[in-house]
Amino acid sequence: MNSNLKEIRQMPLLPLRGVLVFPHMVIHLDVGRDRSVAAIDEAMISDEREIFLAMQKEAQTDEPDEDDINKVGTIAQIKQLLKLPGGTIRVLVEGISRAEIVEFDEQAPYIKVSVEQEEESLDKTPEIEALMRSLVDKFEHYVKISKKISPETVVSVTTLEEPGRLADVVASHLTLKLTDKQKVLEAVNVGQRLELLCNMLAKEMEIMELERKINMRVRKQMEKTQKEYYLREQMKAIQKELDEKDDRTAEVEGLREQIDKAKLPKEVKKKALKEVERLEKMPPMVAEATVVRNYLDWVLALPWSKQTKDQLDIKAAEKILDEDHYGLREAKDRILEYLAIRKLSKKLKGPIVCLVGPPGVGKTSLAKSVARSLKRKFVRMSLGGVRDEAEIRGHRRTYVGAMPGRIIQGLRQAESRNPVFLLDEVDKMTTDFRGDPSSALLEVLDPEQNNTFSDHYIEEKFDLSQVLFITTANVQYNIPRPLLDRMEIIDISGYTEHDKVKIAERHLIKKQLEENGIKDQQLDISENALRRIVREYTRESGVRSLERQIGTVCRKVARDIVAGDVESVQVTAKNIEKYLGIPKYRYGMAEKEDAIGVATGLAWTQVGGEVLTVEATALTGKGKLTLTGKLGDVMKESAQASFSYVRSKVKELGIPEDFHEKNDIHIHVPEGAIPKDGPSAGITMATALASTLSGKPIRRDVAMTGEITLRGRVLPVGGIKEKMLAAHRAGIKKVLLPKDNKRQLEEIPSSVRRKMDFVLVEHMDEVLSGALVNGKD
Ligand code: ADP
Repeated sequence: MNSNLKEIRQMPLLPLRGVLVFPHMVIHLDVGRDRSVAAIDEAMISDEREIFLAMQKEAQTDEPDEDDINKVGTIAQIKQLLKLPGGTIRVLVEGISRAEIVEFDEQAPYIKVSVEQEEESLDKTPEIEALMRSLVDKFEHYVKISKKISPETVVSVTTLEEPGRLADVVASHLTLKLTDKQKVLEAVNVGQRLELLCNMLAKEMEIMELERKINMRVRKQMEKTQKEYYLREQMKAIQKELDEKDDRTAEVEGLREQIDKAKLPKEVKKKALKEVERLEKMPPMVAEATVVRNYLDWVLALPWSKQTKDQLDIKAAEKILDEDHYGLREAKDRILEYLAIRKLSKKLKGPIVCLVGPPGVGKTSLAKSVARSLKRKFVRMSLGGVRDEAEIRGHRRTYVGAMPGRIIQGLRQAESRNPVFLLDEVDKMTTDFRGDPSSALLEVLDPEQNNTFSDHYIEEKFDLSQVLFITTANVQYNIPRPLLDRMEIIDISGYTEHDKVKIAERHLIKKQLEENGIKDQQLDISENALRRIVREYTRESGVRSLERQIGTVCRKVARDIVAGDVESVQVTAKNIEKYLGIPKYRYGMAEKEDAIGVATGLAWTQVGGEVLTVEATALTGKGKLTLTGKLGDVMKESAQASFSYVRSKVKELGIPEDFHEKNDIHIHVPEGAIPKDGPSAGITMATALASTLSGKPIRRDVAMTGEITLRGRVLPVGGIKEKMLAAHRAGIKKVLLPKDNKRQLEEIPSSVRRKMDFVLVEHMDEVLSGALVNGKD
């Protein structure tokens, strides 16, 4: 306190706990401590009823002495007094002015203090003015945020003119820490007091602003969850009221139910449920939702645990195979052996059966019979033209329009996880930059790995180990090597004429009658008629077009019957043309003349054996060799070799020595649309050349096959059985073939062997003497 100190007064002390009284502040205080009650009693005796209010440093001190009490306090006047039950007194006091204890006199029963009081300066320097305004501003703002103080208070504060009082009134309204309040009380200098308060208010508002922000955030969060919850509940209630579900809920619930019932493996189920959850969260119309739906559709449709019960009775199986097919003894036996082994040891993981043979020989229908005899489902999938790994394994779902691969598609179709699965045309797969389908197929077929087959689309592992895979191919050499290594090849070559007639009689006619709705007694096709169909209307290794021709006959007959023209029809060799028109092929070589430069060769293609004509002709020119008829590289080289051979033999063959200087040679193999390749036409081309250059005709009923070397040696070739069957079909009686192919002759059915003459040759000389007309026979 400074020197313009006015007076020192004595009065009783009321120590305050947890509260502080500013000058001009009116407040109730409850007083209970004996010394405090005594102090009040003492104060009440005097006229001014003054008492000194000073705050204890520690609220919990019960009997404070000099050191426990803050020096600066407030002189107050007791306005009212009320004795409460239990000895407590409630006093209403009004702060008058700040003062400082100068002497502390501990008397009984109360403490008496001497205090110095200071008159407050009322000077309003511009600085004080500015501080006042700033304080009022801040206080208004504070009131606005805190909302704890009534607006009237603000009005009363703004009207205060005395700077010290203003500060004290503001301080009394603020929620400040007691120590801060004490600081304000101690700030005797008005300017300092105003500034101190301004700072405190600013800090307080900052804290309040932060508090407000945090509250807002919390509230927003709460509001959002509450709102969502509320809306959801409301929706449920509405749906319940209307007793209907929106499409999405119904769909999702339906899917969950399906998943529950589908007996999916654990992992798959988990994944499916996750997808449903994803679907649930998506807006219904987005494209992604369709993708998820499709996926779930696939997963649910797959036979994860559905399977049929096997019937593994070899006798019954044999009966069924025999019932469905004529002949094919070897193939049937091999299949039965295979089934027997499977019966003996279920775990034995045998090789995959591959049925190899030309089209129409019954590969597919054999596989179907296997399924029938095992009482398994049957699915067939053609691999012809498959060039992309993804066709086997599927595309990942990230691709637009992705689908599972063919294996999974087949299983869905089968609706069972242990069907007989026919993979047709494994020899027709191609490899390109999109990956090698055969390696994917290898994984499918390999019993070691196919219990965890994973399709890119489905993503979860599917167990293929229960599937009985059967594959087919037209030719063995086109089967990708790694696949071939795991396969058991069962060869089914073409049928003889006799076989075909029998197959027609026993199976094809019956089938076609049924298909066309004709009764047994309404149509009879004689054996001779069948033979004519085989000979003159078809040229094939299998029986597909035979079946088609029979079908044509049936349709024509059905029409006649329906038209009411006839009741039943007898088709014979004589009237067959009425139904099938003019014969397409000429049977036999009877009408053909022995001709110069035209030799008959035998070819082996994917569709079986073929009879092939080779024509050679010499034109004036300069020794150029022209080859036409869509010949492959190997066949062209073979033509060159035969040309060189003939040139080296001009003397022996009686050909003018300078022929190559005066002539161009043209070799043509008709039916140019069919690509031809391979070395087996070598001796045929050499014969045609020799004939045209020497002018000796070639015997019309002789056919030949064999590779030629430059020195005229005849090398063995493939497909002997198919070629001989083709020669037989064409009515050829004599065939020249390499000596080294002798063993293959045993494979030819004896019915064919008996009717034909096979000449085994080692050298071109023998070929020419056998084929040319004036040669030695
Ligand atoms: P692939 O699969 O070899 O091309 P398919 O199995 O499709 O031949 O056979 C064509 C038709 O010929 C089918 O209707 C089939 O029943 C019939 N078929 C083939 N061989 C025989 C046979 N040995 N016995 C009875 N029908 C046969």
